[in-house]
Amino acid sequence: MNDSIRTLTGVGEQLAQLLAKLSIYKASDLLFHLPRGYEDRSRIVPIPELRPGQSALIEAVVQSTEHPSTNSRHSGRTSLLVHLSDGSGRITLRFFQMYPGMKDKFQTGRTLRAFGEVRMGGRGLEMSHPDIQMVSAGAALPPSRLTAIYPTTEGLSQAKLRMLVDQVLKKFPTDLQELLPSTVLPQPYSLRQALREVHQPASDADVSALLSYRHPAQIRLIFEELVAHQASLLSRRYYLQLKKAPVVPMSQTLAPQLLARLPFKPTQAQQRVGQEIGRDLQQAHAMLRLVQGDVGSGKTLVAALAACHVLEAGWQVALMAPTEILAEQHFINFKNWFEPLGVQVAWLAGKQKGKARAAAELSVSTGEAGLVIGTHALFQDSVQFAHLAMVIIDEQHRFGVDQRLALREKGMAGMSPHQLVMTATPIPRTLTMSVYGDLDTSIIDKLPPGRTSITTVAVPFERREEVIARVSANCAQGKQAYWVCTLVEESETLDAKAAEDTYAELSSRLPHLRIGLVHGRMKSEEKQAVMQQFKANELHLLIATTVIEVGVDVPNASLMIIENAERLGLSQLHQLRGRVGRGATASFCVLMYKAPLSDTGVERLSTLRNSTDGFVIAEKDLELRGPGEILGTRQTGLLGFRLVQLQRDDYLLPRAQQVAAQMLKAQPEACDALMNRWLPTAPRYARV
Ligand code: ADP
Ligand code: MG
Repeated sequence: MNDSIRTLTGVGEQLAQLLAKLSIYKASDLLFHLPRGYEDRSRIVPIPELRPGQSALIEAVVQSTEHPSTNSRHSGRTSLLVHLSDGSGRITLRFFQMYPGMKDKFQTGRTLRAFGEVRMGGRGLEMSHPDIQMVSAGAALPPSRLTAIYPTTEGLSQAKLRMLVDQVLKKFPTDLQELLPSTVLPQPYSLRQALREVHQPASDADVSALLSYRHPAQIRLIFEELVAHQASLLSRRYYLQLKKAPVVPMSQTLAPQLLARLPFKPTQAQQRVGQEIGRDLQQAHAMLRLVQGDVGSGKTLVAALAACHVLEAGWQVALMAPTEILAEQHFINFKNWFEPLGVQVAWLAGKQKGKARAAAELSVSTGEAGLVIGTHALFQDSVQFAHLAMVIIDEQHRFGVDQRLALREKGMAGMSPHQLVMTATPIPRTLTMSVYGDLDTSIIDKLPPGRTSITTVAVPFERREEVIARVSANCAQGKQAYWVCTLVEESETLDAKAAEDTYAELSSRLPHLRIGLVHGRMKSEEKQAVMQQFKANELHLLIATTVIEVGVDVPNASLMIIENAERLGLSQLHQLRGRVGRGATASFCVLMYKAPLSDTGVERLSTLRNSTDGFVIAEKDLELRGPGEILGTRQTGLLGFRLVQLQRDDYLLPRAQQVAAQMLKAQPEACDALMNRWLPTAPRYARV
């Protein structure tokens, strides 16, 4: 069959361009452009059950009509409001355009059915320009089926998309291949049946199953999509492991020396993860390991011990962190740990220029520096390693996969460096499998002993004075505190301004305290100097933006104030709170918010009050915000699912992963075709 999109009736140049925006190039691509929901005209919804944003069918009686003409924004046009009641609630229909006879149609006392999207208007629920049908009260509903709602783009109507899909379904391509072995299908649906049912559900189909995406036809397709995604992740892993990696024996002297100098012993969890890493390093192919551990679980030591093996064998280790502040903290830490043991530590950051930069790069290229620490500046072309054997990436979820892959190119000729990825935001298991399916996972599941609990309170902005008094009293007793200013996420400039204002205000009001300021727009030496002062207990109070979110470790700080806490996501708040509770003093976290809170705002703050377990909080975050938000926009493209919704469909994941692994080995061609079908734009890796 000729699969060109132009063979469809009604598709010209213009429409073809709109379709291309949805990655629809061929007629058969429409088959896999799957509905994100359905219009349900099969049920009359009582008005009190309506929710804004929902499209629904109502049946109600006209109470009155209204004609707000010239004073409206739509002056020049006449508009009509029709007030309805169904006995249990009221709603208003709004029409901006009138046609002759329209007013007569809506006579008081007449019964009608309206289908449309519900909105919250100034005076209550509204529908604009709904589909209307006049009926006699209680008339039977006509047989009706669910109508697909497609993801679309501006200028392309649902009706047009439905019309196009309908054409393709009618002359269903004969070469549509079953790619999954029939034995693995969770449901006895052929691909063809499943697609037809999902696009155009039969009129007797199970409506509630379809609306909740639990219909067998949907499950059949969701499963296939999951298998394709898992196959793509696994093939990336096979590809990465094609190259040889240096075999690294366990450290005999460096690691014991490092441990001997520490004031504490590694926890059992740290030891276990350390052993898992040690085993990986002794393989002749690259380690690909993700270490998850809650804030403060001691990932830095695990990374340092891993580095010992590689350094002792005479190779280099690169450690990359997403922010300069975090990278600097690591640099200071690792310098303190390793330089007394004879290992030179180099520093590389974007802002570094001139001689300092040249000297750093030289020490890296000659191999003089064993450990190289920095931000993504580590990737730059000018940075050449003498013999890089391991890459450690801290706070992975802030980097894209491409960046993770890029560092791999910096290894020794013909070899791939080992990769150790650490994340501080625990990631729900489903997300781990879907995004890091190519990595092995270790979990540091216990915090070091002796941590004090953190008491968390939520306080409205009106009580800010009390909070200031409390900070003042606590700091006067020698405690240290953070005061975090957030205005708008993603706007470092505005945040910096807020922090500067707060710094000025509190400095003048609390003259007896030594107060510091740190934000992302400061020079790195300035930032570093302030952080050092705070760490050395020369400052009582540190006013900061969210730049201190990750990695900052000052055990004496026991009070954390977060302004506008309602603007931040759960995981981010958890990270910030994790800056306290690291020492022996009982710690407090004050979440200051501006009322009124949204429903999710209330839920977020109460989740934090009730739990300090990062995994519990991450699950809740996933539920409230979805995977895109948690992983950051960089990685959402990676997810790019058509039908799958991870929270809903996670029960299919383990099986999908198994099937993907089997297919990669036993049916590589079918597996390739499957990936092309569901992930046509994802990078492809050579098969093994
Ligand atoms: P994170 O996992 O958040 O990166 P860090 O590595 O920064 O945590 O460790 C948090 C704090 O715990 C640091 O002050 C570190 O020195 C300390 N720490 C790490 N391991 C232990 C341990 N086994 N016993 C006691 N303290 C530890
Ligand atoms: Mg850390």
